[in-house]
Amino acid sequence: MSMPPYPVLCTAPGCSAPAAYKVAARWSDGLTHELKTYGLACEGCVGRVYAAAVGKRAACRLAPGETLDGPGVYELHRGERDKSLRRRPDLEAAGS
Ligand SMILES: [Zn+2]
Repeated sequence: MSMPPYPVLCTAPGCSAPAAYKVAARWSDGLTHELKTYGLACEGCVGRVYAAAVGKRAACRLAPGETLDGPGVYELHRGERDKSLRRRPDLEAAGS
């Protein structure tokens, strides 16, 4: 079964442009691993969506045994699994 062809939109307030990036962090409870998504961003909003994710990460409390990496910016390609997402540290460094 393939992904439905729905549009993936930027989650920044006031923006509805198509998303090009996913801001997410790797989470684990020791048994399962997943990519916790903070938001989706278009080219113009990736800096502030990433900055908001960093703020949320700092406020996040973890249960014993849970680990959560810092947020990262990943290229968003519809239909690909999370494991194949390519990280873009250059965009994280350029955050506004
Ligand atoms: Zn946007």
